[in-house]
Amino acid sequence: METFKKEIENCAACGLHKTRNKVIFGEGNYHAAIMIIGEAPGADEDRIGRPFVGQSGQLLDKILAACGFTRDKHVFISNIVKCRPPGNRVPSEIEVEACIPFLLKQIEMIDPKIIIPLGATALKRLFGNNDLKITRLRGSWMEYKNKLVMPVYHPSALLRNPNLKRETWEDFKKVVFKYRELVDAGHYSAHV
Ligand code: SF4
Repeated sequence: METFKKEIENCAACGLHKTRNKVIFGEGNYHAAIMIIGEAPGADEDRIGRPFVGQSGQLLDKILAACGFTRDKHVFISNIVKCRPPGNRVPSEIEVEACIPFLLKQIEMIDPKIIIPLGATALKRLFGNNDLKITRLRGSWMEYKNKLVMPVYHPSALLRNPNLKRETWEDFKKVVFKYRELVDAGHYSAHV
């Protein structure tokens, strides 16, 4: 994974390389049970070089802590595209097409049991289906290449509309329950 990370550090496969400061590869446990996928890095991430470090990231950390999860042990966090779209716009079709093979390779290498797409873009791009609606599918288990998928609202949506927090917490509780089942079944140590 470290070799792969180095490989894409200087990627110029789409126009986002012209405006980015850093390629945000993702971070966490390379053997995590849970993979969290966001849309794209924002300004803070681009400056610091880590995923989800701004306000949304801080909220995500709080949610993970409430679940009993930590970034370094239980999850790997990445994005649909690895470079920041200027002005935090939604990444274009061309940018997603250029970048998504990197995410797919990460999923293959990490081989998580559970994938959590954060928000509409991550959900649509993961399944390659623009008709999927986060408002309709959040909180219900889906399947992607033999992995369980739990779509949830993006933390930035929770910051804009705190009323969504309650539903999101219910969604994450389902993930915690499933994770405990995996631990009980011997797939993961309770500590990792
Ligand atoms: Fe390369 Fe992805 Fe960055 Fe585009 S967004 S330059 S494909 S790493």
